[in-house]
Amino acid sequence: MTVLAVAEHRRGELRDVSFELVTAGRELADEHGTDLAVAIIGGDVDGFAEELDREGVDAIYTVAEGEEFNHGVYTQAIEQLHAELAPRALLLPNSVNGLDYGPAVAGSLGLPLVTDVIGLKGDEPVEITREQYGGKVETTYDVDSEQYVLTIRPAEWPVAEEPGDASIEAFEADIDASALGSTVNGFEEVAGGDVDITEADVLVSVGRGIEEEENIPLIEALADALGATLSSSRPIVDNGWLPQNRQVGQSGKVVTPDVYIAIGISGAVQHVAGMKGADTIVAINTDPNAPIYDIADYGIVDDLFEVVPALIEDFGGA
Ligand code: FAD
Repeated sequence: MTVLAVAEHRRGELRDVSFELVTAGRELADEHGTDLAVAIIGGDVDGFAEELDREGVDAIYTVAEGEEFNHGVYTQAIEQLHAELAPRALLLPNSVNGLDYGPAVAGSLGLPLVTDVIGLKGDEPVEITREQYGGKVETTYDVDSEQYVLTIRPAEWPVAEEPGDASIEAFEADIDASALGSTVNGFEEVAGGDVDITEADVLVSVGRGIEEEENIPLIEALADALGATLSSSRPIVDNGWLPQNRQVGQSGKVVTPDVYIAIGISGAVQHVAGMKGADTIVAINTDPNAPIYDIADYGIVDDLFEVVPALIEDFGGA
């Protein structure tokens, strides 16, 4: 038996979650005493397979179907690969794509599905951890089905870095074009859609402490001075001051930058769920008891309207 993880790519590049799936998949395969196989569907499958050949992967299956994600292609290809390999566990990213095809695949295979998994251990049953009530509690589930499907939360497992020596095999999926239901004709960027905060090395993140939309350019100026990307807490997006793709947190994006600077952000659990994986966290907040200081590596307990202009000057901004 094996554990089968499905990698994810977009616009010609593998996403970080693919390499996190390798780490989680290896962990689970060790618990079950099985191999780890990784599937890559569509795009430059040969190039992707070489990149995915990381330590811990035993086999890589390439499915050369289409350039970008398509629900019907993914569901059909994964169902066929599942029939061929009969994996103990099917591991998918808890991403927009994974949550699109995951439930369909689990439903059609008649398998239990647990989404947004943050921990796993054990063999029979396997114990799966996920958060509930907006991240306030962690719940453990016993999955005692012989086969099952999980979607893995991005940024919970480290990226697998070391090169491996997996076998690479082309899998010929028999895709029924008449059953696809939809075809992808192309992509059109929405305004601001070019910014992907999940890929940024340094994020300057603004919260409700900024008070008014007119003050957002102050934080933008700091981001520019630091060569950083601008992100925010949810109230900023709810107010329409920044687009949704800038939101960090449980209902926004999960980010793992080298440095995360939280400015006027209290550190609510739903926000922290999206940024606790940052290597270094800096907080600027007037309230010394703000929960953000519980996880911050460095803190400046002061008024952001004093601190930020001083930082901009220090870092050579306008
Ligand atoms: P506040 O909590 O109001 O904090 C503002 C902070 O600014 C305070 O700590 C204050 O001391 C400080 N401050 C004020 N003035 C200054 C100043 N002049 N200088 C320095 N500091 C100052 N939130 C998210 O961010 N992301 C999510 O994805 C998300 N998802 C959610 C999902 C659900 C189901 C629910 C229920 C909530 C979600 N939330 C999310 C909302 C979350 O609970 C908080 O309400 C939100 O994170 C608070 O944002 P904030 O820290 O910017 O604002």
